[in-house]
Amino acid sequence: MSPKSAYLKSSVQYLKGVGPRRSRLLSHLGIYLVEDLLFHFPREWEDRTISSPTVFKGRVTKTRFQQVGLKLAILKATMENGHGQMREAVWFKRPSLRYDVFKPLKEDIAAGHPLWIIGKPEDSLFPTSKIRVEEYYSTQDEKAALHVGRIVPLYPLTEGLRQSFMREIVHQALSSNASLVEDPLPGDLIEKRDLLGVQQALWGLHFPKSSQERDAARTRLAYDEFLLLSLAWAIKQRQTKRVQKSYGYEIKRHLLTPFREHLGFDLTKAQRRVINEIFQDMQQPTPMTRLLQGDVGSGKTVVALSALLLGVENGYQGVFMAPTEILAEQHLVTFDKFLKDLPVRYALLTSRTKPGQRKELLKEIEDGKIDIVIGTHALLEEEVRIPKLRIAVIDEQHRFGVRQRATLRQKGPPLDLLVMTATPIPRTLALALYGDLDVSTLDEMPPGRKPVSTRHLTEKEGFDFIRSEVEAGHQSYIVYPIIEESGHRDLKAARKEFERLKREVFGDLKVALVHGQMQGAQKAKTMEEFSLGLWDILVATPVIEVGVDVPNATVMMVQNADRFGLASLHQLRGRIGRGEANSCCLMVAEPKTTEAEGRIRVICETTDGFKIGEEDLKHRGPGEILGTEQHGDFHLKVGNILKDSALLIRAREDGSRIMEQDPTLSQPKHQAIRRKLIAMYQNRWHWIDLA
Ligand code: ADP
Ligand code: MG
Repeated sequence: MSPKSAYLKSSVQYLKGVGPRRSRLLSHLGIYLVEDLLFHFPREWEDRTISSPTVFKGRVTKTRFQQVGLKLAILKATMENGHGQMREAVWFKRPSLRYDVFKPLKEDIAAGHPLWIIGKPEDSLFPTSKIRVEEYYSTQDEKAALHVGRIVPLYPLTEGLRQSFMREIVHQALSSNASLVEDPLPGDLIEKRDLLGVQQALWGLHFPKSSQERDAARTRLAYDEFLLLSLAWAIKQRQTKRVQKSYGYEIKRHLLTPFREHLGFDLTKAQRRVINEIFQDMQQPTPMTRLLQGDVGSGKTVVALSALLLGVENGYQGVFMAPTEILAEQHLVTFDKFLKDLPVRYALLTSRTKPGQRKELLKEIEDGKIDIVIGTHALLEEEVRIPKLRIAVIDEQHRFGVRQRATLRQKGPPLDLLVMTATPIPRTLALALYGDLDVSTLDEMPPGRKPVSTRHLTEKEGFDFIRSEVEAGHQSYIVYPIIEESGHRDLKAARKEFERLKREVFGDLKVALVHGQMQGAQKAKTMEEFSLGLWDILVATPVIEVGVDVPNATVMMVQNADRFGLASLHQLRGRIGRGEANSCCLMVAEPKTTEAEGRIRVICETTDGFKIGEEDLKHRGPGEILGTEQHGDFHLKVGNILKDSALLIRAREDGSRIMEQDPTLSQPKHQAIRRKLIAMYQNRWHWIDLA
């Protein structure tokens, strides 16, 4: 660090106008140092170069003051701009007993200077008549030039701070410190990608002279974030790859061949390709970390079983981890179906396993008498010891955090890891989001699947449809967002609605209920009975979102569908369309936001899991998909992996080239980027190791 750039590390408190109180408020925004302020980016910009209903310049011709109780003081001023246009400007303030809160304003008015006022139109019918003032400036005030007549930044704020204050201190910090910011990019890269220099980009993002300059600034700063992220991932991947496995696999086929022969169907081309990729990976001298993505129903389980069986063929143990008990139980049923006649010992271990049974099971696992353990995160507990664990499969990986993945890795010597997700996203995005993973994609559905049609309709129409399907010999799911009503008056609850349906709507049909709070055994029994056709209608909470497989069920009705995320709706829909008959997914929803409306529209329009994954990312943002904790670790303040995907790809290319040429970032031209990388990632990704 050059001595000058030490200023960047000084406290914001020493900026003019900040002081201890405001510096405490700034800390709520994560701003401690001058540098933090430079990188506290606007959340949006307002174009105040043009006249608009929110900006007015004029002289005050008349004022009226009003005090409403002890809480509110109001000042109303009639303004006029010399071109015959008038506005009524209204200021609201909390009065003080000690001084006149409007004193500075009244002084400005008395001086007769024209004022700039900026605010919200009060009356939506006459948007030009009345403005509720948020900011005002005398045209004589030097600082006015920062706030009006230009594109103005609007910052994320916290209680007690104002936009005008933020703007002024950011401007101050930029004026005295922007030139000290070191450009992390080597000059050749800046030139090749035609990027702004970092200092110009900082100015351009905070105080753009034009929207073009702002966009160029955004591009530059987003590029930096993507490049640093891909370097961080590359380093992490290198570290994983440096670990050597002390074991290997041989494809012996004494389990795999009979397994395939007993499946009752041929593997799809995609399944065969993906199994090959996985087997090749497993035979590498370094551990596998692979993501298998495939739409709901694309047949991931069979692929996972193949990987596990390769382990068992070689005398190792494996785990198959699912996010919910129901799903784990379903997987057990699948194991029973596909491994029936094979000499493979498997068992289910969840938090519901009875203590006595659990103890016995733990012992068997530890003694190597169980080959494959199926379970939930209960498998991660310390007392679960799996001495010959070499291969782990995590189903629906997006529901687990990175930390859980790491815990599994720490369970013993290196192991091969296959994580699976039914929320597929485009490959480039997958690489950005799960940069340390290799990606395999099942892009083909097993043959004979009937497309499911999806309709948005009323509950009554839906119930009539369900009745006609049941009369035709089929079964139906009705899913509610919650179990009990408590605290959610606007949502329908499964338990209560179940009683109503049983009595009033479908009194003559056989209706059952499953939900997450039921005893595991009871739940499993109901599911089993439903799959045997003993129930016509299964009322459920989203516990059945994943894994459940009943081909005779042809209707999935989702109640309060507007309250579900797209991925969940798609998962729920994946429960039907598994048999010969046509299936229909019914969305009962009264969307109250345009976003919710959009989700319902998308789910009705497409069954393409990739499209849905992409839409989902757009609406929820990667934070929710990855878990916010993990998202925060990406340091993406400017870059948006979806909207800037082309830029992301370029940055990734550049990142790989840098890592090829200079894997330890020790060349002089990479020193700045090395410093930035360490500053950003070393604390959180404590494994960043540049050796
Ligand atoms: P998902 O990818 O959603 O986990 P599953 O593995 O549960 O999908 O598979 C969905 C259904 O398709 C299961 O009933 C499974 O037995 C069946 N299946 C899987 N592969 C094939 C195939 N190649 N041909 C026919 N059916 C298949
Ligand atoms: Mg599955």
